[in-house]
Amino acid sequence: MIRLAHAVLVIADISGYTDFIVNRAVSLVHAEQIVSDLLDAIAQCSRQPLVLNKFEGDAALFYAESGEDRPAAAADVAAQLGAMFDAFTRMRGRIAAARRGCGCDGCQNVHALRLKAFVHCGEIAIKTLRGFTELAGEDVIVLHRLLKNDVDGREYVLVTAAACALWPPASAGQTHRANCEGVGEVEVRVLSPAQLPRAPAA
Ligand SMILES: [Zn+2]
Repeated sequence: MIRLAHAVLVIADISGYTDFIVNRAVSLVHAEQIVSDLLDAIAQCSRQPLVLNKFEGDAALFYAESGEDRPAAAADVAAQLGAMFDAFTRMRGRIAAARRGCGCDGCQNVHALRLKAFVHCGEIAIKTLRGFTELAGEDVIVLHRLLKNDVDGREYVLVTAAACALWPPASAGQTHRANCEGVGEVEVRVLSPAQLPRAPAA
Protein backbone atom coordinates (compact mmCIF):
# COMPACT_ATOMS: atom_id res chain seq x y z
CA MET A 1 0.00 0.00 0.00
CA ILE A 2 1.28 3.45 -0.88
CA ARG A 3 -0.11 6.75 0.27
CA LEU A 4 1.04 10.34 0.19
CA ALA A 5 1.20 12.55 3.27
CA HIS A 6 2.84 15.70 4.49
CA ALA A 7 5.21 14.82 7.29
CA VAL A 8 7.84 16.22 9.61
CA LEU A 9 10.97 14.10 9.24
CA VAL A 10 13.65 13.63 11.88
CA ILE A 11 16.96 11.81 12.02
CA ALA A 12 18.68 11.49 15.39
CA ASP A 13 22.31 10.61 14.80
CA ILE A 14 24.88 9.50 17.38
CA SER A 15 28.48 10.43 16.64
CA GLY A 16 31.78 10.60 18.43
CA TYR A 17 33.09 7.05 18.23
CA THR A 18 34.73 7.34 14.81
CA ASP A 19 37.75 9.16 16.26
CA PHE A 20 38.96 6.18 18.21
CA ILE A 21 37.01 3.19 16.91
CA VAL A 22 40.01 2.34 14.72
CA ASN A 23 41.81 1.40 17.90
CA ARG A 24 41.97 -2.35 18.40
CA ALA A 25 41.25 -1.97 22.07
CA VAL A 26 37.57 -1.31 21.32
CA SER A 27 35.26 -4.16 22.03
CA LEU A 28 32.88 -4.13 19.06
CA VAL A 29 30.17 -5.75 21.12
CA HIS A 30 30.52 -3.15 23.87
CA ALA A 31 30.52 -0.22 21.42
CA GLU A 32 27.47 -1.54 19.59
CA GLN A 33 25.65 -2.21 22.86
CA ILE A 34 26.33 1.32 24.05
CA VAL A 35 25.02 2.88 20.84
CA SER A 36 22.01 0.55 20.92
CA ASP A 37 21.18 1.54 24.50
CA LEU A 38 21.39 5.21 23.56
CA LEU A 39 19.23 4.78 20.46
CA ASP A 40 16.71 2.86 22.53
CA ALA A 41 16.56 5.65 25.11
CA ILE A 42 15.96 8.16 22.32
CA ALA A 43 13.28 6.03 20.63
CA GLN A 44 11.46 5.60 23.93
CA CYS A 45 10.79 9.34 23.94
CA SER A 46 8.79 9.28 20.73
CA ARG A 47 5.04 9.28 20.93
CA GLN A 48 2.24 9.87 18.46
CA PRO A 49 2.19 11.43 15.98
CA LEU A 50 5.98 10.98 15.95
CA VAL A 51 6.80 7.41 14.94
CA LEU A 52 10.10 5.55 14.82
CA ASN A 53 10.46 4.29 11.26
CA LYS A 54 13.78 2.46 11.54
CA PHE A 55 17.31 2.43 12.84
CA GLU A 56 20.01 3.22 10.32
CA GLY A 57 23.40 2.38 11.77
CA ASP A 58 24.05 4.85 14.58
CA ALA A 59 20.94 6.84 13.71
CA ALA A 60 17.17 6.61 14.04
CA LEU A 61 14.65 7.87 11.48
CA PHE A 62 11.34 9.24 12.75
CA TYR A 63 8.38 10.83 11.02
CA ALA A 64 5.21 12.57 12.09
CA GLU A 65 2.32 12.97 9.72
CA SER A 66 1.45 16.62 9.97
CA GLY A 67 -2.33 16.35 9.77
CA GLU A 68 -4.49 19.47 9.54
CA ASP A 69 -2.51 21.62 11.95
CA ARG A 70 1.02 21.43 10.59
CA PRO A 71 2.57 24.05 12.91
CA ALA A 72 1.18 22.18 15.92
CA ALA A 73 2.67 18.94 14.65
CA ALA A 74 6.06 20.60 14.13
CA ALA A 75 6.01 22.18 17.60
CA ASP A 76 5.18 18.80 19.12
CA VAL A 77 8.09 17.19 17.29
CA ALA A 78 10.41 19.94 18.56
CA ALA A 79 9.36 19.27 22.15
CA GLN A 80 9.89 15.55 21.68
CA LEU A 81 13.35 16.28 20.31
CA GLY A 82 14.12 18.23 23.46
CA ALA A 83 13.14 15.17 25.48
CA MET A 84 15.34 12.97 23.28
CA PHE A 85 18.43 15.09 23.94
CA ASP A 86 17.73 14.98 27.67
CA ALA A 87 17.22 11.21 27.58
CA PHE A 88 20.45 10.81 25.60
CA THR A 89 22.44 12.79 28.16
CA ARG A 90 20.92 10.87 31.09
CA MET A 91 21.54 7.48 29.48
CA ARG A 92 25.09 8.40 28.51
CA GLY A 93 25.85 9.21 32.14
CA ARG A 94 24.26 5.99 33.31
CA ILE A 95 26.22 3.89 30.80
CA ALA A 96 29.51 5.63 31.59
CA ALA A 97 29.02 4.87 35.29
CA ALA A 98 27.99 1.26 34.67
CA ARG A 99 30.95 0.57 32.35
CA ARG A 100 33.66 2.26 34.37
CA GLY A 101 35.18 -1.13 35.13
CA CYS A 102 35.84 -2.06 31.49
CA GLY A 103 39.11 -0.90 29.99
CA CYS A 104 38.07 -1.11 26.34
CA ASP A 105 38.01 2.13 24.38
CA GLY A 106 34.28 1.79 23.70
CA CYS A 107 33.46 1.85 27.40
CA GLN A 108 36.15 4.38 28.34
CA ASN A 109 34.97 6.93 25.77
CA VAL A 110 31.22 6.93 26.31
CA HIS A 111 31.50 10.58 27.34
CA ALA A 112 32.71 11.43 23.82
CA LEU A 113 29.40 10.43 22.26
CA ARG A 114 27.16 13.21 21.01
CA LEU A 115 23.71 13.50 19.50
CA LYS A 116 22.78 15.49 16.42
CA ALA A 117 19.27 15.93 15.05
CA PHE A 118 18.13 16.81 11.56
CA VAL A 119 14.64 18.13 10.88
CA HIS A 120 12.97 18.55 7.52
CA CYS A 121 9.42 18.30 6.18
CA GLY A 122 7.55 17.75 2.96
CA GLU A 123 5.26 15.49 1.00
CA ILE A 124 6.39 11.91 1.27
CA ALA A 125 5.19 8.52 0.12
CA ILE A 126 4.54 6.05 2.90
CA LYS A 127 4.84 2.53 1.59
CA THR A 128 3.83 -0.55 3.50
CA LEU A 129 5.14 -3.88 2.32
CA ARG A 130 5.22 -7.14 4.27
CA GLY A 131 4.88 -5.34 7.55
CA PHE A 132 7.65 -2.85 6.84
CA THR A 133 6.95 0.84 6.43
CA GLU A 134 9.23 2.69 4.07
CA LEU A 135 9.40 6.43 3.58
CA ALA A 136 10.13 7.66 0.07
CA GLY A 137 10.40 10.89 -1.84
CA GLU A 138 12.82 13.69 -2.56
CA ASP A 139 12.48 15.18 0.92
CA VAL A 140 13.46 11.90 2.55
CA ILE A 141 16.60 11.95 0.39
CA VAL A 142 17.33 15.59 1.27
CA LEU A 143 17.05 14.74 4.98
CA HIS A 144 19.63 11.99 4.66
CA ARG A 145 21.96 14.17 2.61
CA LEU A 146 21.91 16.76 5.39
CA LEU A 147 23.93 14.39 7.57
CA LYS A 148 26.96 15.03 5.41
CA ASN A 149 27.23 18.76 5.85
CA ASP A 150 29.84 21.37 6.60
CA VAL A 151 28.31 22.66 9.83
CA ASP A 152 30.77 23.03 12.68
CA GLY A 153 29.86 21.59 16.02
CA ARG A 154 29.49 18.21 17.61
CA GLU A 155 25.99 18.54 19.04
CA TYR A 156 23.28 20.52 17.30
CA VAL A 157 19.83 20.53 15.77
CA LEU A 158 19.75 21.31 12.09
CA VAL A 159 16.37 22.57 10.83
CA THR A 160 15.72 23.18 7.14
CA ALA A 161 14.03 26.37 5.94
CA ALA A 162 10.92 24.33 5.08
CA ALA A 163 10.68 22.97 8.63
CA CYS A 164 11.53 26.38 10.06
CA ALA A 165 8.50 27.84 8.24
CA LEU A 166 6.32 25.37 10.16
CA TRP A 167 8.14 25.88 13.45
CA PRO A 168 9.17 29.56 13.63
CA PRO A 169 11.09 29.29 16.95
CA ALA A 170 13.83 27.59 14.91
CA SER A 171 14.59 30.98 13.38
CA ALA A 172 16.40 31.75 16.65
CA GLY A 173 19.12 29.45 15.38
CA GLN A 174 22.07 30.48 13.27
CA THR A 175 21.44 30.68 9.55
CA HIS A 176 23.72 28.49 7.55
CA ARG A 177 23.87 27.44 3.94
CA ALA A 178 24.78 23.81 4.33
CA ASN A 179 26.69 22.32 1.47
CA CYS A 180 25.24 18.86 1.15
CA GLU A 181 26.55 16.09 -0.97
CA GLY A 182 24.39 15.57 -4.03
CA VAL A 183 21.85 18.32 -3.29
CA GLY A 184 24.04 21.41 -3.23
CA GLU A 185 23.31 24.24 -0.84
CA VAL A 186 20.41 23.89 1.56
CA GLU A 187 19.38 26.77 3.78
CA VAL A 188 19.20 25.60 7.38
CA ARG A 189 19.04 26.93 10.91
CA VAL A 190 21.42 25.49 13.45
CA LEU A 191 20.20 25.38 17.03
CA SER A 192 21.84 24.14 20.17
CA PRO A 193 19.88 21.38 21.92
CA ALA A 194 19.29 23.84 24.77
CA GLN A 195 17.17 25.95 22.42
CA LEU A 196 14.62 23.17 21.97
CA PRO A 197 11.39 23.45 23.92
CA ARG A 198 10.88 21.09 26.83
CA ALA A 199 7.42 19.67 27.27
CA PRO A 200 5.93 20.32 30.72
CA ALA A 201 6.11 17.26 32.94
CA ALA A 202 2.98 15.15 32.63
ZN1 LIG B 1 34.10 -2.36 27.13
